[in-house]
Amino acid sequence: MTVPSLLRRAFAAARAGYVATFRWLGQHPFAIGTSGTLVGIAIVALAFVGFSQQREQALQNSRQTSAMLASLITTHLETNLGLYDLMLSDAIDAIRDPRTASLPADLRRKVLFGRLAGVLYIDGALYVDAHGHIVDAQDGRDYPNVNLSDRDYFRVQERSRSLGMYLSDPFRSRVNEGQYSIGLSRRINDYEGGFGGVVVLTLRLAYFQHLFDRLEVGKRGNVFIMLDDGTLLARKPYSDYDVGTNLASQRQIAPMLKSTSGSFISRDDEDGTERIYTYQRVPHASLIVVVAPALDDALERWRARIAIYEPTSIAFGVFVALSSWLLAFGLRARLRAESELERLSVTDALTGLSNRRALDLRLVEEWQRARRAGQALSILFIDIDRFKLFNDFYGHAAGDEVLAAVAHAIGATVQRATDMVARYGGEEFAVVLSSTSADGAWKIAQQIRENVAALGIAHGHSEHGSVTVSVGCATCTPREATGAHALLRAADEALYAAKEAGRNQVKATVFEGAPPDPRDSLIGNGAT
Ligand code: GH3
Ligand code: MG
Ligand code: MG
Repeated sequence: MTVPSLLRRAFAAARAGYVATFRWLGQHPFAIGTSGTLVGIAIVALAFVGFSQQREQALQNSRQTSAMLASLITTHLETNLGLYDLMLSDAIDAIRDPRTASLPADLRRKVLFGRLAGVLYIDGALYVDAHGHIVDAQDGRDYPNVNLSDRDYFRVQERSRSLGMYLSDPFRSRVNEGQYSIGLSRRINDYEGGFGGVVVLTLRLAYFQHLFDRLEVGKRGNVFIMLDDGTLLARKPYSDYDVGTNLASQRQIAPMLKSTSGSFISRDDEDGTERIYTYQRVPHASLIVVVAPALDDALERWRARIAIYEPTSIAFGVFVALSSWLLAFGLRARLRAESELERLSVTDALTGLSNRRALDLRLVEEWQRARRAGQALSILFIDIDRFKLFNDFYGHAAGDEVLAAVAHAIGATVQRATDMVARYGGEEFAVVLSSTSADGAWKIAQQIRENVAALGIAHGHSEHGSVTVSVGCATCTPREATGAHALLRAADEALYAAKEAGRNQVKATVFEGAPPDPRDSLIGNGAT
């Protein structure tokens, strides 16, 4: 086999496959429509999965930024509070040194609190004895009537030997125009290990507030520092009312008091805003730093993008689904039109029977089929008697009606699905009877003749008085590859004999074979 012929075959096979697929799709419009709709839904679903991933990403970014901010603030606080603790420890060392007590008061203060001079946000420092009396104050003043033994920074240290530095609840400082401050205290142990008083620094809360000055947490965001019991020390946006409030009972605060760090989304009990809370404890200090941008702020850009992409992807999905339905039904309509055209091309318009063209094709097919199966094949040739005279006498229109009535009578007599009735031309009809013996064909032919006569259509110029038909009947068992049309000719000859014998009758012949007719090679070569 040559390459071009191989290519030709491959091309023909591909084309056949394409045509078959095309036909199948046209016959199953719901399959196309449903698949298209599923694709449309898949497109929209995929888009939504993408949107939700982008949302997650936006939240993740916001969390990361918050964690970084919290970490920076925490580190800063850890370092600075560590320094204050060091100052407190230095002062305690000096207090425990017996030489310090003998120093002149101003020099002693310098030894105890000298380092604090000028430190921003530190408003003062006190050395308080075990009974709560102020022994030395950084400001150099005496406070003979003040007793601090009821203050939390005193009592807590009195109770615990090894607490280290303690951060007190906020209070309004008596110095510095009553600004909010906290006390940082450390216990003094006497030589026996007993309680020897405390050293305390007063740190203005403005120090914490100052950390937030250049921080940006969005329009509705929050950042705050609280003690580990939930007492608020500083917050941005600032509100003087808040400071000192205990927030522990608020839904969004409670989880932060239980672990060292974390992140979660919660609705603020106070203003109802949903925020992404990221919190971290300051090591070695009882402080918690919280950065909480509003969810709406974090998702603002994502929402702006979604506002465009969401309707677009839905519209695209709907478009895909709709166009698949349109395509499906368009295809079906086209295939229906095509098959109607095909039907018309093989149908006789007047009688609705198959036409001569269809007969020719079918005859050859049936011949080959009968030969393969080794079965008999019969053909009837039917001709209306004295039809010219009928036309001349009753008119052409009436003749047409008779043609249709006779066609109907023939069709009604031949009922097997494998049989075929065709209008051969003029007032002649042919019937192909597959797998039918001469006896069977004879019976059908007689039946047709009787049924037509039974129509009782008056025909004044016929020797029989009504419209009748003559039928030629030929039967054979095909052995040769070709011969279908020769069989038809044999039937025609039998018809002629019927006419000769007086019309309105059937004549049969058993066909033994004859030279093939060129029309027999119309389809295939039948050589198989
Ligand atoms: P016979 O009994 O020998 O068959 O005589 P006949 O007159 O039927 O035969 P003939 O072949 O001489 O005439 C056939 C007539 O059929 C000729 C024509 O007027 C008529 N005919 C053919 N086709 C049509 C058609 O489509 N409509 C009508 N009305 N008449 C047709
Ligand atoms: Mg005729
Ligand atoms: Mg005739």
